[in-house]
This record gives sequence, structure tokens and C-alpha cells, in this order.
Amino acid sequence: MKTEVLKIENPAQFTELDMEHIRKAASVIRSGGLVAFPTETVYGLGANALDEHAAGKIYEAKGRPSDNPLIAHVSCLQEIEALVRRIPEKGRILAEAFWPGPMTLIFPKSERVPYGTTGGLDTVAVRMPSEATAAELIRLSGVPIAAPSANTSGRPSPTRAEHVFQDMNGKIDMILDGGPVGIGVESTIVDVTEEVPVLLRPGAITMEMLTAVVGEVRVDPAILGPMSPDIRPKAPGMKYRHYAPRADLTLVEGELSQVILEINRMAQEKTEAGYRVGIICTDETRGCYPLGEVRSIGERAREETVAHNLYGVLRDFDDLGVDCIFSESFSEHHLGQAIMNRLSKAAGYHIQRV
Ligand code: AMP
Ligand code: MG
Repeated sequence: MKTEVLKIENPAQFTELDMEHIRKAASVIRSGGLVAFPTETVYGLGANALDEHAAGKIYEAKGRPSDNPLIAHVSCLQEIEALVRRIPEKGRILAEAFWPGPMTLIFPKSERVPYGTTGGLDTVAVRMPSEATAAELIRLSGVPIAAPSANTSGRPSPTRAEHVFQDMNGKIDMILDGGPVGIGVESTIVDVTEEVPVLLRPGAITMEMLTAVVGEVRVDPAILGPMSPDIRPKAPGMKYRHYAPRADLTLVEGELSQVILEINRMAQEKTEAGYRVGIICTDETRGCYPLGEVRSIGERAREETVAHNLYGVLRDFDDLGVDCIFSESFSEHHLGQAIMNRLSKAAGYHIQRV
């Protein structure tokens, strides 16, 4: 299959050519094909969420396990009514507060949503993206779009069209290239089917922001650490080792000056043993590492820059072909919770405390 790449030049105000590209993408979606497109979180790989056969192609292109359900993306609240049996009160409050935006809500599903989209579950994940290209594509398609991240399963999520091309060229019909995404980590997922909402995956809508709006929110244990095999996480995707770079990644946690010393010690040990070492630092600490391939992941003082660069840095290390990577770590508060969730999963929970 030839994968067509179409540029979106100006998402702030679409040109006539941009509109033509989005219309073309919408017709691919309507005819059961696959289109990768930018959202404010990461690039998504989209298909008609109501067409089981089309949704099945997503699993095939990504090599995604079939029990890992997809998120249905909508462009307005009316579209949700066809997807859900009911909208619980706390779901309505969260939707009003944070949609359109980087938050996914889990609702009881309606009969129209095929089990092929929900991985066999009786619930459906729904999100209304704020990114203009995504919203316009959904609107023009006239159907909700099922869209997981547009990477091969197990690789870091794509934050640029080039990342999508690396993973999906030849496997999907089209890529809408809207440049680098804004946020860089996937949406916050909240299950609102129970009385107390449950955070299933941290993201840019932080725990602090959620509780400010709905009060108590529980945290699914799957986001805190490695899952024992007998526990089923509520978000089936959380049990897979996502976001894995090719090299062994170790997170080093503790007081920053100690972390720097420990990373340098391990980098020296590995270099002397003949390994190629990568180091993930921050703008503030870039000058502290004399050995190895050193990449800054962003500014410690502005965690949104860290989220923005996270997956790109992991992919860069894949391209550099290092054998092991040592990374600084971050606080578990605010956006730091999402950053640490992704980094610790990428590290297979290999965390060294100093
Ligand atoms: P991705 O689209 O790649 O960000 O992955 C979607 C995430 O949403 C996965 O972790 C899924 O397990 C989760 N998800 C999708 N639908 C549901 C659902 N009905 N209940 C719980 N988690 C869900
Ligand atoms: Mg994903």
C-alpha cells in the first residue's frame, strides 16, 4: 500500500489546500481506510469507530493486541450520544471542564459501538480533541474516529509526522502532517462509570486539575508500578510494556546532585566495559555529564517542555543505537505524574534510588 503524506500548513487558519487535504482524509475514513493525524497529545491512527472491520485494520497496522481497546474521538457533544448508554453526572462535569482537550472519559457503551472497537468491553473510551486538524477531520468524516497512538505497538508514541512515517509507511492510507504536536504525552484517562472517578492513565489534565473539579478521584494501581500478572488493570493497555526504547533504560531517582554523580559513575563503568551509553538530562544539568551521548529532555523548571520532548528523545536514542540509557527523574506531581508514568514504563520499572 502506498502511504500518502499530505501537509497541513496552517492549523491556526486552514488554507484552501489544507481543507482539500482534510476533506480527502475524511473520505478515506468514510470508506473504511486508515489515516494518521495530529492531535494535541500525540499523533493518532484513525478509522471509523463504528465500523468493526475498519477498526480491525488499526490493530493489524500497529501489531496491537486485540484486547487493548481504542479511544473514540468526537468533534462535538451530540456525537457522544450515539456512543454511550448514559453520561454519569461526574462525567458531564469533567467533560464541561476539560473538553475539547487532552482527557479521555470511560462511559458505558451503547449498542452501536462494536466490540471490535472496545476490545470486548461494555464500556467505551471517548475524547474530544482540541487540535484543529483532528476536530475538522472528525467533523468532515461525519463519524466518530477510533484512534490509538500511530506507532507500532511497543515503540514510543509519535509526536511528529516523521515518527508516524517510520512506523507506518506502507501500512496505512494516509498521514496528515501537521508538524510537531503540542503536549507530547497521551491523554489523561478517567473512568466515570463508578461513583468515584478513577484515574487510569495520567496526562496533561493532571490529578490536581481533576480533583479541583470533581472532588475525590481514585488512582488505578496500574499507573503506580509494575502489575502482578494476576491483577487486571482497568485500562487493558496499561499492562503492556509501552513506550519501550530499544536500549535498556534506567531511571535514577533522588537528590539531583546525587543523581548526577550516580549517572556519571554508571556511564563510566559501562563505557569502560565497551558499551555505548546514552544520558537523558535536562537543560539545567546539560553541562554535568562528560561521557556518553547526552540529550536534554527539556527544562526541569517547565515540565511541559519535558512532556513535549519525551518520546522524541527516546526515538533519537533508538536511531543512535546506544546500548543503555540513564535518565534523571522528575517529581510525581502535576504533569510530573504523567512524565514519570511514561518514563518508568519505558524503563520496565528499572529505577535506581540514590
Ligand atoms: P492509546 O489510544 O494508544 O492511547 O491507548 C488507549 C488506552 O485507552 C489504552 O491504555 C486502553 O487500554 C485504554 N482504553 C480504551 N478503552 C477503554 C475502556 N473502555 N476501558 C478502559 N480503558 C480503555
Ligand atoms: Mg498508544
